[in-house]
Amino acid sequence: MRLDLPTLFTMTAAVTFTVGVLFLLSWSQSRRERALAVWGVAHVVGSVASLMLALRGQIPDSLSIGLANALMIGAYGLIWSGVRAFEGRRLHLDWALAGGTIWIAACLVPAFFESLPARVGLASTLAGFYCGSGALTIWRGRGEPLVSRYPALLLLATYAALYWLRVPLAFTVPIPASVAVASPWFAILCFTGTLFSVAIAFVFMALTKERAEREQRLAAETDSLTGIANRRALVAGAERHLAVAPAALLLFDLDHFKSINDRFGHSVGDAALAAFCHIAAPLLPPGTVFGRMGGEEFACLLPRFDERAAARVAERVRAGVAGFAHPAYPDLTMSVSVGVAAESQIGGSLDYLLRRADDALYRAKRTGRDRVVTSGDDPLPAVEEALGTGLHAKAGRRSRMRSP
Ligand code: GH3
Ligand code: MG
Ligand code: MG
Repeated sequence: MRLDLPTLFTMTAAVTFTVGVLFLLSWSQSRRERALAVWGVAHVVGSVASLMLALRGQIPDSLSIGLANALMIGAYGLIWSGVRAFEGRRLHLDWALAGGTIWIAACLVPAFFESLPARVGLASTLAGFYCGSGALTIWRGRGEPLVSRYPALLLLATYAALYWLRVPLAFTVPIPASVAVASPWFAILCFTGTLFSVAIAFVFMALTKERAEREQRLAAETDSLTGIANRRALVAGAERHLAVAPAALLLFDLDHFKSINDRFGHSVGDAALAAFCHIAAPLLPPGTVFGRMGGEEFACLLPRFDERAAARVAERVRAGVAGFAHPAYPDLTMSVSVGVAAESQIGGSLDYLLRRADDALYRAKRTGRDRVVTSGDDPLPAVEEALGTGLHAKAGRRSRMRSP
């Protein structure tokens, strides 16, 4: 089979242009993702470059070699820039266009322009640099778990390796300039260019879709005021852990919170709720599920903790909250009461655990607040006796209201 090179270049141009338009259309639907626009422009520029390469021999060499390759290198620069935008970094369009500028400057030197290996060497070095830097940027963003990150990384790294491999080959497998256009270099360039356009389109589109889905899922699981898990996510996470391990539960209720609202206003109350989470979250061991049950009540499931170990964690949080001070509100103090209960069996019921923790929390409130009470603690006979059965009846009512 004989492949007609201008036809190949034209096909590459058409495919790349279509991909570019698809990126731009996708960007017009979700303009927040700037990377889509940059990748769209990159592909359109790349398609113009392919078209100019296809016209080799029909238009001056300064255009089909000089400008066409400058645009191609610029397109790779924009791909890199788009990856940076995707990772929330600065676009650095100046760096994206630097490669094309270096290429044009080199082409102004006749000895360089006349040498095919030198031209292939420089163009490949620059394109490889952009692909390699793009791969590195994707790798650095791995803190955001997106499955398509790895195919994208592999694709960019493979292209960087292929381009850099071309550099020594260009010098060791010399091609006579007279047959340059018909050389395998051009066919390979066409195939890899088309493949790159299509594959990059798939993985980058998948990346943006995965990010949008992840953001939606996180928003549905997050309490908007405090940024921690909402009740639904908390219950789901706690049940997941309870199914596979014993665990302890801490139930927090901020003391006299209504009076904070009354004295300082609702917005200060909101800030105090966020401050509580800010204090508590770093004091909780890794792997715990911490969330807002509602209002000024929070819960934390500690997998594989027994009641005593969990009470120590609760005491750390209680002390942290008691030490809260804000220079703008010197009169604002906070305290928290904590109820602790543990489940020593695998597959325990969250409902039952919540009820026992709530019972303990209620005792913490009744015995003075700003304290930690565990489910196993003696039920403080003096207070209990004084209150009679009314206390248990009320605690039971609270528990039923809390059940997920
Ligand atoms: P206790 O020590 O018995 O828990 O007293 P308390 O005042 O904390 O309890 P109570 O249940 O009487 O009041 C809870 C208050 O929490 C009332 C409500 O206005 C306030 N609150 C609930 N959710 C929010 C919120 O999202 N923002 C603010 N600012 N206040 C809230
Ligand atoms: Mg409450
Ligand atoms: Mg309260």
